[in-house]
Amino acid sequence: FGTRLIVQIKLRVEAEREANESRARAEYLNHILQEMATHDGLTGLANRRCFDAAISRELQRAARNKSSLTLLMIDVDFFKKYNDTYGHLAGDACLKQIANALKIAEKRSADLVARFGGEEFIVMLPDCDAQGAVQIAESILSEVRALAIPHSVNPQGIVTVSAGIGVLNPVGSSDTPDSIIGMADKALYQAKSNGRNQVYLYRMATL
Ligand code: GH3
Ligand code: MG
Ligand code: MG
Repeated sequence: FGTRLIVQIKLRVEAEREANESRARAEYLNHILQEMATHDGLTGLANRRCFDAAISRELQRAARNKSSLTLLMIDVDFFKKYNDTYGHLAGDACLKQIANALKIAEKRSADLVARFGGEEFIVMLPDCDAQGAVQIAESILSEVRALAIPHSVNPQGIVTVSAGIGVLNPVGSSDTPDSIIGMADKALYQAKSNGRNQVYLYRMATL
């Protein structure tokens, strides 16, 4: 009787251990899946899907609170030429370094830096006015310059980025992600045509 009880206890302990192990494995895989669904594989930043969800959420919240929302659209200058000159792998390494430098913009918990696509990044800053946004954008630009990544085709001799800023202050109930992304995008285009390596703030009257 004693031995049978010991065998039964051993079996139960073993079964429990196995159940715990597969639970831990499932949790681990779940975590990886979650990470893959929301983050970009190259840079580790939030991906487009994650950004799309975040901006819809933040726009609704800001419209309710009549608070502001700011977007910085950041694009690497002469990046096609960087790839052509140094190769695609060096280009990838460059994007990783830039992504890392962009993280300085994430100061508050609702701030989000994401890879928008290709060599374009987007920074979402809730409750940030135009003046604050320009400051943050300027600090991102100097952070990227401080990386001092050589780029012989860029007139600066190093890798630089340009930034377009769109601000909704306050956010209105009819504002959509496309309206503020469009503002940041138009401003980015202006920063590029003004000579790159600079920040441009979208203003309705001037564009
Ligand atoms: P501009 O100063 O006007 O922004 O010029 P640009 O050359 O940066 O712009 P363009 O849109 O012509 O080129 C973007 C390049 O970015 C082309 C594409 O091959 C490269 N690119 C996009 N995604 C990646 C990536 O994940 N890795 C690498 N290495 N290159 C990428
Ligand atoms: Mg681009
Ligand atoms: Mg570019």
